[in-house]
Amino acid sequence: MSRLLLIGPPGAGKGTQAALLSQHLGIPAISTGDIFRYNVKNQTPLGVEAKGFMDRGEYVPDSLTNALVRDRLSHEDAKAGFLLDGYPRTIDQVNELDSILADGGKRLDVVVQLTADYEELARRLAGRAQIEGRADDTPEVIRRRLDVYDEQTAPLIDVYAARGLVAMVDGLGEISEVTARIIEVLEARGLTADA
Ligand code: ADP
Repeated sequence: MSRLLLIGPPGAGKGTQAALLSQHLGIPAISTGDIFRYNVKNQTPLGVEAKGFMDRGEYVPDSLTNALVRDRLSHEDAKAGFLLDGYPRTIDQVNELDSILADGGKRLDVVVQLTADYEELARRLAGRAQIEGRADDTPEVIRRRLDVYDEQTAPLIDVYAARGLVAMVDGLGEISEVTARIIEVLEARGLTADA
């Protein structure tokens, strides 16, 4: 039973690590970015609303994002634990998550902060842009996403650190090395595959 958050700038490798950790821990990885992209692709009402913000590298409004996460966390598969990738990203979202957890009598176990320097992030995002062709991977939008992260999301780390929840992990190196580092900090906090 683990409830984890993965926080880090765009390009830090959250999505990749979330998928691997989800397998390792046997809990669902929930990525708000993936859910939004799915909705954009299928032109759902949520996707239509979210698209403009995403294409500009801005955050989707909290009201939409919070409703989406509240709904997703109410699904059966998230009852025993979850790993949130890319949420919360604003103070309002932190408050909403607190309220969702309090309503269910649950609490967070750990917030994994994945770090990487700006050069590496820019390099990875440019590389991914060529492979995946995401609409928000143009150089200007990448810069905007990194700035929005610094302004709105980086401060959340202090909020969780004050609660003693943050474990910082270096996101540089081989994917498997980074996964091993994360598993190590989780185990140091008593979170194992069967716990
Ligand atoms: P990144 O690689 O930049 O971390 P994601 O795939 O997590 O990207 O998210 C892509 C986009 O989806 C964001 O730039 C934003 O527009 C939207 N998005 C994802 N999660 C959130 C969130 N928690 N709050 C607001 N917008 C979000």
